[in-house]
Amino acid sequence: MIDQLATWLRNSQSTVAFTGAGISTESGIPDFRSPGGIWENSTPVLFDDFVASEASRIEYWRQKSEAHREYFDAKPNVGHQVLARWQGEGILDRVITQNIDGLHQAAGSKDVLEIHGTAREVACLECSWRGGASRWVDEFIETGVPPCCPGCHGPLKHATISFGQMLDADTLRQCGRLAASCDLFLAMGSSLVVHPAAGLPEAAKRGGAKLVIINRCETDFDSVADLVINGSLGETLGQVDELLKTPGGQ
Ligand code: NAD
Repeated sequence: MIDQLATWLRNSQSTVAFTGAGISTESGIPDFRSPGGIWENSTPVLFDDFVASEASRIEYWRQKSEAHREYFDAKPNVGHQVLARWQGEGILDRVITQNIDGLHQAAGSKDVLEIHGTAREVACLECSWRGGASRWVDEFIETGVPPCCPGCHGPLKHATISFGQMLDADTLRQCGRLAASCDLFLAMGSSLVVHPAAGLPEAAKRGGAKLVIINRCETDFDSVADLVINGSLGETLGQVDELLKTPGGQ
């Protein structure tokens, strides 16, 4: 399977990597749905609740402040690094990620499409103001008061997509176009249950791409994939990378 993937990567004219929380577990950031994942310990604050109530905004900022250091202290792992290098070498066109941790960019990936936004910034819900998240997390930890926009005093929220919040239409359009026009689509470290992001592997298949799924657990898309590798991403991408580096190795 590793050989097959290396061959397809070599022969592909346009490869897209689509990643989920599973690519960052080896950097120490828990995913949502694995045992011990984030959902075992907290219930997410829905977007409508955030907008409607101060108590929900406090709970949101409490959860985000707890997760903040984990995200900020994390370093890219071999999976992120291999993808960044492949892009530099022309093996991979683009990374689309559901992750909000910024680790693809930290590894050197360029023009990453972040479908669910980024936890590294906060955004005002009422004007276009954005800024680095750390200052506002520190302020919340000190005061216990959810922060407001320095410009218009609207509520500040991480620049991520909460449950019930609209995705950025332009980002989604770009992702759809890339998925539909690539010839190899690698879906990695995602349970593929969160829509509309999980529609991208389908869009890739409809567009004629080969679909490869690399994930520890089975997914609902395994039956339509051209290749499924159930294993660790760091190990799998590392092995494929070794093969690609070996002249005539696949
Ligand atoms: P998910 O938790 O639903 O699924 C993660 C999948 O990755 C699981 O199926 C698991 O088996 C697999 N996995 C875990 N570690 C792996 C590894 N080392 N190698 C291979 N597979 C591994 O996550 P999702 O599908 O990305 O969807 C959940 C949402 O969670 C996303 O929208 C994302 O925004 C958000 N999220 C992001 C982060 C992050 O930014 N690091 C962390 C948690 C959740």
